[in-house]
Amino acid sequence: MELTAPTEKVKRDFLPEDFQVKTWDELQPYFEDLKGRSINSKEELEKWLKDLSELEAVISEDASWRQIRMTCDTTNKEFEDAFTYFCLEIEPKMKPYFFELNNKLLASPYTKELDKSMYFPYLRSVENAVQLYREENVPIQAELSVLAQNYGSISGKMTVTIDGQEYTLQQAARFLQSPDRNLREKTFRAVAERRMQDKDQLNELFNKLLERRQQVALNAGFKNYRDYKFRELGRFDYTPEDCFAFHTAVREHIMPLQKMLVEHRQRRLGLERMRPWDTDAEPVGTEPLHPFETGQELADKAIETFSRLRPYFANCLKTMVQMNRLDLESRKGKAPGGYNCPLAETGVPFIFMNAAGTMGDLTTMMHEGGHAVHSFLSHRLPLSSFKEYPMEIAELASMSMELFTMEYWDVFYKTEEELRRAQVEELERVISVLPWIATIDKFQHWLYTNPGHSDKDRELIWMEILNEFSTGITDWSGFEEYRAHFWQKQLHLFEVPFYYIEYGIAQLGAVAMWRQYRNNKEQALDNYMAALSQGYTKTLKELYEIAGIKFDFSPAYIKELSSFVKEALVSMGVKG
Ligand SMILES: [Zn+2]
Repeated sequence: MELTAPTEKVKRDFLPEDFQVKTWDELQPYFEDLKGRSINSKEELEKWLKDLSELEAVISEDASWRQIRMTCDTTNKEFEDAFTYFCLEIEPKMKPYFFELNNKLLASPYTKELDKSMYFPYLRSVENAVQLYREENVPIQAELSVLAQNYGSISGKMTVTIDGQEYTLQQAARFLQSPDRNLREKTFRAVAERRMQDKDQLNELFNKLLERRQQVALNAGFKNYRDYKFRELGRFDYTPEDCFAFHTAVREHIMPLQKMLVEHRQRRLGLERMRPWDTDAEPVGTEPLHPFETGQELADKAIETFSRLRPYFANCLKTMVQMNRLDLESRKGKAPGGYNCPLAETGVPFIFMNAAGTMGDLTTMMHEGGHAVHSFLSHRLPLSSFKEYPMEIAELASMSMELFTMEYWDVFYKTEEELRRAQVEELERVISVLPWIATIDKFQHWLYTNPGHSDKDRELIWMEILNEFSTGITDWSGFEEYRAHFWQKQLHLFEVPFYYIEYGIAQLGAVAMWRQYRNNKEQALDNYMAALSQGYTKTLKELYEIAGIKFDFSPAYIKELSSFVKEALVSMGVKG
């Protein structure tokens, strides 16, 4: 595909060029215009959609900037206020309008004349949103989002003291990778003890969430929250049965590989008995990988890596550098985490990171870079709604980029040995995430199809599922109770229910993309770009097909992919 990175800002046609989002009162007239406008032909409908899209883009870019500024400097009160103002004073007032505009679109006789090959997923989402909307669920959903925030405040307060110093659990986690086994054990024990202090409080919170979620489902005419949530998440391309097939396939075809990796680590560590604090550890004398020093160096090297893969990808990053859209280096006052934030109007996204020179930061950069390429490629589509693609394809873009770039990581690593180690670590992560995804997903299916269960029932089922996806190599004795509450550390269960299998689907897809890449690089990259350029104008099945892979998580397919990864690992010196 012959493309240079687009930098073209969408031209405004409906709002004045100098319009800025300040207050709801200034925005409302545009919503009123769209709501009241009469549509008397297909052309008028298309113009209406274009204007709606422009309004959405202007608002979305503005809201994104509020979030970016706040996360880049959490100490700036003005940034925080601007963000909160949007959430409280603008967003809630737009919601009823969007509901009415959706209805207006569905009611128009010209809607069925729109080109199905572009509009199908969009119209399906609109119809879905309208069908699921229940007025009586609005206050319950508002209550749910407040309740879900309690999870953040309960777990955000958790700290541990190690050698006289206080750490958050995220900060303490890095000690678990230390070659010092005593430090690892001390850390693990401190974290376990701290988490156990809040286990009842989290159980209580979770019961409240389950109860209200079940009510939302009943109000919307579903028998359980699982079935409701499948619809709400727009899972039209797969069913609960496909998820069950995924669980079985992971147990049968990924677990043996996972076992091989844990045994490989055990041998490297020279341990007779693996304890829970050994699973992320490095052997004594092994320094952690250190692929770069500064944010600037990370950006330069990422551009070089991308340009070796395909110049277009590098052009995307270069455009972002020119427009000041990378903030990579960790510094005081920055929010934690990393993200790629698309900017709907300018079309050039923003990458935020907290890089500190680790191997994890390098993969995050490749990952977010994949999301950025997706933002650039889909920006050329005419409507904002066409660019609202779901996670199953968004994560395919980012996870594939991690694997595609792997062979060029010598840009970051000076020795063959370091490069090899980084590649093995990456594949290790790809494999070990799958059993955990299966565990969490299978658990959620049970949670929401068994309303009214007791804490004890839940604990028993959790242990059964957790054991199903454990290698059995690690000796957990003395930590049985902690392990029985291990699910409480998974934020998604509390904050974004049922969201999780998407990562598994995309991860398998990324492995399939990498296999395709190893067979025919140029073809695989062409297919990758073609699929991402479609945004969400095709169904997931179609998008995966355009990418040259199958949208499939049957045992037979997963078996194929797992043998492919196994071969790669063995060729890198990992012994089975
Ligand atoms: Zn991602």
